[in-house]
Amino acid sequence: MIPASAPTPQQVPPAEADWRRLWREAIRDPRALLTRLDLDSLAARLSDSAARQFPLRVPEGFVARMRKGDPADPLLRQVLPIDDEDLPAPGFSLDAVGDLASRGARGVLHKYQGRALLVATGSCAIHCRYCFRRHFPYGEETAAADDWRDAIDYLRQDTSITEVLLSGGDPLSLATGKLRSFTDAITSLSHIRRLRLHTRLPVVLPERIDDQALDWLASLPWPVTMVIHANHGNEIDASVAAACARLRQAGVTLLNQAVLLRGVNDSTAALADLSERLFDIGVLPYYLHQLDRVAGVQHFEVSDRRARDLSRQLIARLPGYLVPRLVRETAGAASKTPL
Ligand SMILES: *Cc1c(COP(=O)(O)O)cnc(C)c1O
Ligand code: SF4
Repeated sequence: MIPASAPTPQQVPPAEADWRRLWREAIRDPRALLTRLDLDSLAARLSDSAARQFPLRVPEGFVARMRKGDPADPLLRQVLPIDDEDLPAPGFSLDAVGDLASRGARGVLHKYQGRALLVATGSCAIHCRYCFRRHFPYGEETAAADDWRDAIDYLRQDTSITEVLLSGGDPLSLATGKLRSFTDAITSLSHIRRLRLHTRLPVVLPERIDDQALDWLASLPWPVTMVIHANHGNEIDASVAAACARLRQAGVTLLNQAVLLRGVNDSTAALADLSERLFDIGVLPYYLHQLDRVAGVQHFEVSDRRARDLSRQLIARLPGYLVPRLVRETAGAASKTPL
């Protein structure tokens, strides 16, 4: 993903203005964030070069869920640019998941049978340090950049595609009207049976799930799945629960994907707690991803052996439906690869 700029503020209805204001007011200064958390002593660990490459961005509501005075806070660790990112990391590359090779059309990644993924936009409300898209050269390579024209043509021509995935960046960082213009255009394509959104906004900026978004989702002619993205139970608070409740009322099926991250959720207790808190708010765990090996994220890596151990311990501890599938993304593979 590319460093995000805020959506333009002009001429938006009042509810949209709300989440856009929260978006614009996201914290971007690492030192200010540390001061807020009574963690000035951590400033020595900040990396200016990491922050230049992929700037800090974190909405206030997410900061409010961090624990003051805890340098190991699992939410803080996901967003703070630190010197570990600058360490040399053999085997970590810029395009770890082969995205550049699977381009179907502008902003369309078509890797798997029956499913096409649209990189709707490069923008995100939060910048996660481990993001595999931190090096992806978006520029104009997003599906929304040309009013979806290339993407819609692609979908029209390939009738083997039955499911369309909106991803990014974060697709919900686009205005609802922009999303609606896309779904209106593909409503006439009879081979499309399902729509899926991959978005972290219900977790990091739940205000995004406003009336316009819900009206749009409820109006769609296909079953809609939303794969949200929470890595730790502490990310889930009352505002996230409320957003998920409204999404379910609009008929949306809710799943979660998490990334296994050292120092964030690499314990059975943290993973079990995440699954249980997700289920409490009506979300089923879907995937637990092994980290994509992109440059700058090596300090988050958990070994495959440890990942499998954790997965086995989860299976022994939770009902089957609360155990996410442990997978890795492998360039050129026909699906995510189970570990
Ligand atoms: C992960 C991914 C999907 C979705 O895979 P599922 O197993 O269906 O969740 C689809 N397309 C691309 C390009 C992906 O990276
Ligand atoms: S929300 Fe997703 S796409 Fe955006 S920075 Fe985080 S991991 Fe990357």
